[in-house]
Amino acid sequence: MPNLVTQALVRSLLIYRIVILLALTAFSSCSSDYRSMDEDARISVVTTTTMITDMVKQIAGDKVQLTGLMGPGVDPHLYEPIPSDGIALSEADLIFYNGLFLEGQMTSDLKTQEGIDFGSTVSENQLKGQKSHPDPHIWGNAEIWEGCVPLVVKELSDADPQNSSYYRERGDHLIEVLRDLHQWSRSRVESLPEESRILITSHDAFEYFGEAYGFKVVALQGISTVTEAGIAERVNLVDFIKENQIKSIFVESSVSPEAIKSIAEDSGAKVGGELFSDAMGEPGDIEKSNDEEYDLGTYQGMLKHNINTIVEALK
Ligand SMILES: [Zn+2]
Repeated sequence: MPNLVTQALVRSLLIYRIVILLALTAFSSCSSDYRSMDEDARISVVTTTTMITDMVKQIAGDKVQLTGLMGPGVDPHLYEPIPSDGIALSEADLIFYNGLFLEGQMTSDLKTQEGIDFGSTVSENQLKGQKSHPDPHIWGNAEIWEGCVPLVVKELSDADPQNSSYYRERGDHLIEVLRDLHQWSRSRVESLPEESRILITSHDAFEYFGEAYGFKVVALQGISTVTEAGIAERVNLVDFIKENQIKSIFVESSVSPEAIKSIAEDSGAKVGGELFSDAMGEPGDIEKSNDEEYDLGTYQGMLKHNINTIVEALK
């Protein structure tokens, strides 16, 4: 009897789905006709990571049709493109990506589609990692990240000259905001005793951050999450934490927390909180700290959250 009921339920659910699908198809075909006649004189811009999507959003506002391929919590090292990504890329007027092999599985597609590479703005002496395999986590230093703003302004203006003064003004404003943020971050870290400025995370995403804001950075995995840490790396990290009496270590929002949690247990350190390494938070998710509010889905909110979380947990 329950089987019959289940079968009937499954059947009616199926019919319901088909009806919805048909309705959606009909709707999307008329809405796309409508769109091509109306608003979409706007250029279409496709971005990869949440940090890049946010920068384009802060400069271009609603003057472009913006599609970010990777959402909050997505690890760009491991991200595998889905079929709709290929369509979005092939139809885009402009594509912005991080480069430096961050988007491991997409790099060749992005190059073929003539995407614009943020990594190309970073000078050789600022780049970390090996020459053949540079460290891609350039957004960790607000000063380096600021250096990508003129590239976005230029490319948007070339593709859409009508709005070029709009892009330039907003780009100039963003540069000011990022300079203030850089100074704020440096002075916030000064409240922490120098010997406590050791940052331990899942993967090596904080080298640029560490150099900019004065932390020694130690990570379980390398600059990519593609290869997992072995037993020897785990044992060494536990020893390092004990020797240096490190209070807290950190998990990352885009990397599984299990390894860091077990290292915390074995070493006696606390998990000091979750940092945004390779993806930001959800836009509109507001955090309050020290009488200040910031949106975790913006670059400013991401950096403030990371700095505040680290300083509070290590002090
Ligand atoms: Zn990474």
